[in-house]
Amino acid sequence: MIDVSSFRGIPVALLGLGKSGLPSAQALAASGATVMAWDDSPARRTEAKDAGVPLVDLTKAGLSGVKTLVLSPGIPSTFPAPHPVVVRAREAGLEIVCDVDLLFRTQRQAVYVGITGTNGKSTTTALIGHVMRNSGRRVEVGGNIGTAALSLAPLAADGTYVIEMSSYQLELTPSAAWDVAVLLNISPDHLDRHGGMDGYVAAKRTIFARRKAAVVGVDDEISAKIHAGLSGNVVAISGSRKLARGVYADSGTLYDARDGKPAAIVDLAACKTLPGAHNHQNAAAAAATALRLGISRAQIAEALVSYPGLAHRQERIAEIDGVLYVNDSKATNADAAARALGCYTDIQWIAGGQAKEGGIAALAPYFPRIAHAWLIGEAANDFAQTLARVPHTIAGDLASAVRGAAKAAKPGSVVLLSPACASWDQFRSFEHRGETFRGLVAEISGTEGLAA
Ligand code: ADP
Repeated sequence: MIDVSSFRGIPVALLGLGKSGLPSAQALAASGATVMAWDDSPARRTEAKDAGVPLVDLTKAGLSGVKTLVLSPGIPSTFPAPHPVVVRAREAGLEIVCDVDLLFRTQRQAVYVGITGTNGKSTTTALIGHVMRNSGRRVEVGGNIGTAALSLAPLAADGTYVIEMSSYQLELTPSAAWDVAVLLNISPDHLDRHGGMDGYVAAKRTIFARRKAAVVGVDDEISAKIHAGLSGNVVAISGSRKLARGVYADSGTLYDARDGKPAAIVDLAACKTLPGAHNHQNAAAAAATALRLGISRAQIAEALVSYPGLAHRQERIAEIDGVLYVNDSKATNADAAARALGCYTDIQWIAGGQAKEGGIAALAPYFPRIAHAWLIGEAANDFAQTLARVPHTIAGDLASAVRGAAKAAKPGSVVLLSPACASWDQFRSFEHRGETFRGLVAEISGTEGLAA
């Protein structure tokens, strides 16, 4: 846990007592701050109270003497409408920050790597952590990937924080000055929270404010434009094409061509947990970051080959009677689902949930790969319309979809859960959706705890 000693004896308001909020409140309280914490959910408030966090109703309490509101990134601060407590805090002149900002303020000696992008953030964050750790570096991995910033261990100058940053967190981190700032890619997502595409791009771009070095994907137009506008220490990365300068994947090999002279890093076919051009983009970003931090090409190669992969991201969970079952529950938008669809043919595709803007229209080029689509959740009817002549069934729930898909699959088929939707209409989270899928597949094989 981080000692946020600069807040000792100081009142601090905190809104949101979830995955990052509760540990932040605990860290602040343990550091001697006068915590005024709140959450709209009575259940979360009870949990916090039981954990010893002092509660104050921030929708009503006086804020005189309070200078800081620590806001959970999940709570809107601008669009579609700011939370009433945010409005009160702004009127009272409070600074509004998230937990990562407090980490920067207290752990000043450490090296910081920040990773953002529409897709691939968690994979790249975990991968950079793995490469660094494998090379004997002291490293702490957290942020949007799971571990709250203030739950990480303190690090000295020889330590590196590798932090996954959502667009929401980026808007709440004014103190951030990344040693390496990584932008993977940008496609439409979370537009309601940023007032449209311009706001979303602006939020992503803030990762480069005050950074020392930048690693930028150039595989989509918007990111390429951002790359073109940056100066100083900037490395371009690509998961699919040769670059004059940069780190890129080309014909199955990862190259370091930062100085314009391509040197092979690794044969990507040997990196079994990183299939597809999208993962090659993640590998290129991780390699460019590690190179900047002084790790050798040989060490990077070794770590990319031994990377264990993350659950719910094209995770191969079982092979039953020649049918591969892949859990890509984390694919919560069309772009992410496209990456998985592009890796297989003869797909029994399970999709649906709470749709994002644009639905699955952009996936049309992948439709010929789909043998049958099994549609679930709120989006099922809309998706059925878009799929038109692609064979499909409105399965309704995941259990019916998995059973239908398993029955229809033939040896060589892939049953792919890659929903292109948020999970919240039927599940607590994408993890819950993925675990439910795992359980249903286990039922089919009649075994528990399947191996890949
Ligand atoms: P994030 O943390 O940004 O949501 P993840 O690493 O968790 O990203 O991957 C989420 C999904 O996005 C994966 O299931 C995969 O299909 C897809 N994906 C992973 N990396 C990329 C990438 N570089 N570009 C596009 N899609 C990707």
